[in-house]
Amino acid sequence: MAHSRLDRRVQFLKGVGPKRSDALKKLGIGSARDLLFHLPRRYDDASTIRPVATLEVGMDATAVGRIRSKGVLPTRSGLRIFQVVLEDDSGYITCAWPGQPWLDRKLREGDQLLVTGPVRHFHGRQIHPREFTLVSRADGRGGSTRNDGAERPDGMIFVAYPATDEVPQWVLRTIFDRNLEWLLAAIPEEEYLPSAIRASLGLVELDDAFRRLHRPQGIEEPDEGRRRLAFDELFFLQLVQALARHRETEVEPGIRLERTNHLIRPLHESLPFRLTGAQARVIREIYADMGSARRMNRFLQGDVGSGKTLVALFAILLAAESGFQSALMAPTELLAEQHHEEIRRLLQGPGLDLEVVLLRGRMPAGERREALAALGEGGRASVAVGTHALIQDGVNFRNLGLVIVDEQHRFGVRQRMALVEGEPDRPQPNVLVMSATPIPRSLALALYGDLDLSLLDELPPGRSPVETHLMSPARRPDLYAVIEKELARGRQGYIVYPLVEESEGSDLKAATQEYERLRDEIFPERRVGLLHGQLPGEEKGRVMRAFREGEIDLVVATSVVEVGIDVPRATIMVVEHAERFGLSQLHQLRGRVGRGADKGSCFLIAEAGEQARERLEIFRTTSDGFRLAQADLEIRGQGDLFGSQQHGKDPLLRFADLGRDETLLTRARELARGIVAADPELEASEHERVRDLLERRHSERLKMWRVG
Ligand code: ADP
Ligand code: MG
Repeated sequence: MAHSRLDRRVQFLKGVGPKRSDALKKLGIGSARDLLFHLPRRYDDASTIRPVATLEVGMDATAVGRIRSKGVLPTRSGLRIFQVVLEDDSGYITCAWPGQPWLDRKLREGDQLLVTGPVRHFHGRQIHPREFTLVSRADGRGGSTRNDGAERPDGMIFVAYPATDEVPQWVLRTIFDRNLEWLLAAIPEEEYLPSAIRASLGLVELDDAFRRLHRPQGIEEPDEGRRRLAFDELFFLQLVQALARHRETEVEPGIRLERTNHLIRPLHESLPFRLTGAQARVIREIYADMGSARRMNRFLQGDVGSGKTLVALFAILLAAESGFQSALMAPTELLAEQHHEEIRRLLQGPGLDLEVVLLRGRMPAGERREALAALGEGGRASVAVGTHALIQDGVNFRNLGLVIVDEQHRFGVRQRMALVEGEPDRPQPNVLVMSATPIPRSLALALYGDLDLSLLDELPPGRSPVETHLMSPARRPDLYAVIEKELARGRQGYIVYPLVEESEGSDLKAATQEYERLRDEIFPERRVGLLHGQLPGEEKGRVMRAFREGEIDLVVATSVVEVGIDVPRATIMVVEHAERFGLSQLHQLRGRVGRGADKGSCFLIAEAGEQARERLEIFRTTSDGFRLAQADLEIRGQGDLFGSQQHGKDPLLRFADLGRDETLLTRARELARGIVAADPELEASEHERVRDLLERRHSERLKMWRVG
């Protein structure tokens, strides 16, 4: 593909020049392509725009008119009010901006404005604009020629771009008016989607998409444009991931593991329960991967308590049967210790004496040396359990055949790729990533598109669900009485707060203050501990260990307890300001109790408004983590779930909405995987454009997934 005009620097576009191009840079616009992607943040349907003569006091109105006269009025209090008289075909109305006299310097007589705000009575009707857009300039320099023609452009959509003081709305509009057609003309050469596929997905052509986003002719058009860009975004993300998967699983030599059953059978026989159907199915999926010459690259999702650790152990045993080692990595030391204990417990049966070593960050030098020797050449250890430092610290494995990463879903893609990178020139270990909390399918595909998915969607039988109650803060005293009774019977509990310190302007009670009150005034007879994110790691570990050993009755904590901690005697979970938590987070918290013989209870305290109450009610009546995660996505949007993946200059997804676009995502994935399966190097002529766009526009992603 020839150099595209879209790669030109924006400075050389009509009406830009060096000064404006500097200002545009601050908006993140350096090239013509950036300009094209600078999309309106707001669309106003002109059919909702009312003639100013018809506006009545009490309405929330949107109107368009030209400034007939303007001025700044002082008031007795010293407040200065900027006022204009706005005129359209139907008549006049006043607009007032109290306290914004500086607008007088920005707006001129004859300027065309779009204003939105309440109509008040003040010496006649007045609009107090919440928002306004300078649609065009008095001298005709600004504004869209299309919108300029009529003062009430029926059927038109007004667009408002993200703007700055230096590059105000009307300047952006001028720049688009003068360059948009020229920019759009360059787009067809980047159309990579065959028209049949495009049609089957109900997507518009790429240039049409941009036209609909920048100059919509109907209020539905921007979303049609967005869907097209969303598909492109999802497709290229899936393509990069499909390439990564191809490289990780097909190109580099994997380790083929033979099943002899000399360990797997004894484990089956020593288990006091039967595997759930889902566990059996997932173990089969894992064994099929590990038994082939392809390297396994699998993502295991299971609900809280679905028995992921046991599945991981079956994978470990398959590796061990062929004499290969496994590494199991947890996000915290405490969880690593817990995995270590659980695995040792499960391996107590006859015929299962595998050596399992635990590597801690701070270990006595002698112990550490011993552990490393056991893992290295001539050693006996089959399994290493630790934090992610396990792999980073240059531990020398004799023959590592399987890496299991137990992670929180907030864990970044970048870090994951670094973790599972094996030794060069050696067969690549199989990789199993486990997520601590269920995430919606669409999010799993977007974040882990390079992995194959396994789902543990069944809980072991006989678990009694945790009873969940919503309470108003007024009922705290009753609740404390319930807690006291439970603690007196030797059970334990958690009280969780959303924050550590009183944040400015909020009335949240800091966990630390509450901790003191609970310890000294409410439960003076009980041992109360404090746990929050700002404690040093060692102190956190100390408190949690004491809680697990039963030396602490009640832990007052921030959400740091949410990850897989397992304390069988804990039966009570109280969440303060529950409305501040996501449903998945609440689900994790609730999963901390009722893990032993005794039934668990979860109390959500919330001064809930309508919306929060509805959300919490869903939580109260649903125990399925996958459904809660999906509800979270639909209610709170993907930003929350993505965490850091979605911020910064290059968000993973800018146009796609995983709550709405799952079908697009599935199709994008099929298309991407199909292309890579047929033509992994993208050499075929029909893939030339795709390859070109990938290199030109997605080089960062290629690097991120290590395929560039
Ligand atoms: P999670 O998926 O949350 O990590 P765990 O692996 O901690 O779940 O399992 C929770 C508990 O259930 C553990 O005590 C485990 O031994 C037990 N468990 C696992 N599989 C089964 C099963 N099939 N039947 C009964 N109990 C099981
Ligand atoms: Mg577990």
